[in-house]
Amino acid sequence: MTDTEMLIGTRFQSGTEEAETIFNPRTGEAVMKLPEASTEQVDAAVFAADAAFAGWSRTPPGTRSALLLKLADRIEAEAEIFATLEALNCGKPRHLVLRDEIPAIVDCFRFFAGAVRSMQGALAGEYLPGHTSMIRRDAIGVVASIAPWNYPLMMAAWKLAPALAGGNAVVIKPSEQAPLSTLKLAKVIADIFPEGVVNVVVGRGETVGQTLISHPKVSMISLTGDVATGKKVLTAAAKSVKRTHLELGGKAPVIVFDDADLSEVVEAIKIFGYYNAGQDCTAACRIYAGAKIYDSFVADLSSAVSDLRFDRENDEENDLGPLISPRQRSRVASFVERAADLKHVEITAGGREGSGGGFFYEPTVIAGARQDDEIVRREVFGPVVSVTRFDDVEQAVSWANDSDYGLASSVWSRDVAKAMGTASRLQYGCTWVNCHFMLVNEMPHGGLKQSGYGKDMSIYALEDYTAVRHVMVRTG
Ligand code: NAD
Repeated sequence: MTDTEMLIGTRFQSGTEEAETIFNPRTGEAVMKLPEASTEQVDAAVFAADAAFAGWSRTPPGTRSALLLKLADRIEAEAEIFATLEALNCGKPRHLVLRDEIPAIVDCFRFFAGAVRSMQGALAGEYLPGHTSMIRRDAIGVVASIAPWNYPLMMAAWKLAPALAGGNAVVIKPSEQAPLSTLKLAKVIADIFPEGVVNVVVGRGETVGQTLISHPKVSMISLTGDVATGKKVLTAAAKSVKRTHLELGGKAPVIVFDDADLSEVVEAIKIFGYYNAGQDCTAACRIYAGAKIYDSFVADLSSAVSDLRFDRENDEENDLGPLISPRQRSRVASFVERAADLKHVEITAGGREGSGGGFFYEPTVIAGARQDDEIVRREVFGPVVSVTRFDDVEQAVSWANDSDYGLASSVWSRDVAKAMGTASRLQYGCTWVNCHFMLVNEMPHGGLKQSGYGKDMSIYALEDYTAVRHVMVRTG
């Protein structure tokens, strides 16, 4: 049965305010209506977290770690249920959730369970005669975590694991469009963690989210979402000087040099430009192709992308699913329409909405795009890849960096020196060479510029969710 109740302290309860309709994006059918939390319920969740903080933050890392490992084991054991919920609520091909997302989520909790027991620190010593100084890394307090709809369970894991490992108490709000897997997670968490350490509330951003991030007892806000939402978080945070951790959008440039292995690049872009229907902040969506290979690259990519399977009745056969909502599909369609109106642009694959009731959009290639075109500059968050021709390294690097975003990028070349030289000049949180989209829990993920700041995954996330403190003892 689908879990629908929020977790506040140890109590499971439904929201008491306006209900949000939850859809199955594959069919377009309404699945249920979920009432959102009231201000009093958000208050109660924050107070429960605040009450839990003192005990949890003083719980030894080894004990916190053991509970995170238990959580990882339970998610692994109940992988089928989590995958079913993610598929139902987001339209993702279920077999891909099981293959790609669940193992990464389980590993995220296991990584932080290990990391918190092996953190490194500065030496203690006498920096003033007769006084011994030491550096501590302590928990921050109550963290308000706000998650998006594209990978609901994975984003919850990215936020919960480092925050809990670091000794913080959390109130998490999943996206109003995709809360089901987080509500199931709440049931599992309540079996494992002490009262109030994790609380889950549901509802819209401008109501429940805003109340949560503005709460005086919240010490830190962690958001994965849109740049516009990030700005609202900063405004709310400024009122009481809360810490912020922002993972915002992206528009990943992919520089394909003339000497790249073309078939390898085409195969990679076919997967990583369209995975999760392109609803991915690292999607390989902004290609710069060298002048010599441009024509064959566009032809090969367009033909490869036309083979992608997305609306098969048998979900096991699908490479990608639908978009999350009719609104998101219209947004994607309008980007493509405006691009198609430009004389220099050619739609060489896709370019139309799928048929049937689901929120499908055809995997699309937009060739001939120019640097100043909207399709090159703005995040589409759909199965749409643009291709732009470049003449030399200087042009490719300057166009790749000419963006409001700075999350992920990739460089493709058989010449290691050229690839490494280019990678070193890119202003992105991550640059992949001859690959794209590869994430591992040991390595940081996070942006520059308007893609935000702060790292998910890796020891750097544990640092972000803890504070450096100096304790000095007079000894002489
Ligand atoms: P969104 O910003 O609309 O919503 C994200 C979350 O913020 C939701 O839970 C929403 O309810 C909440 N929210 C909205 N307004 C709020 C407010 N005023 N106060 C508090 N909370 C508020 O984003 P989305 O549409 O769910 O997700 C898509 C966006 O997320 C894209 O821009 C994408 O690039 C970005 N994203 C970034 C990363 C990353 O790691 N950088 C990962 C995934 C998604």
